[in-house]
Amino acid sequence: MSQTTGNEIPDTLAALDWRGITCQSETGCANRATHIVHMHAVDECDHPHLDPFGNTIAILCIACLWRAEAEALVQVGRLRRHSSSSCRTCGAPVNEPGDIIRDVAVLSG
Ligand SMILES: [Zn+2]
Ligand SMILES: [Zn+2]
Repeated sequence: MSQTTGNEIPDTLAALDWRGITCQSETGCANRATHIVHMHAVDECDHPHLDPFGNTIAILCIACLWRAEAEALVQVGRLRRHSSSSCRTCGAPVNEPGDIIRDVAVLSG
């Protein structure tokens, strides 16, 4: 069993030089990355590539962060309609976008 405790940034990310790093959005965005975003992989949070809390870690520019927040809002609305406002994998409540986008850290540098 891993003794990993939580929110530390994986070695692969810590080793990066943040200055001049571009947004890692799947859209192929070329903006300068400004934020590290922890998003819960709702209903799929047991995926092996996620952090110990079932979060995916995205490196995004502010525009893609806003888009991710908008998508989280839509996802929450969809879950509410089906009256299952929790993650089916871990049971964590998903009542608001902040339950999906769990942490946003600003990149310094
Ligand atoms: Zn972007
Ligand atoms: Zn979950």
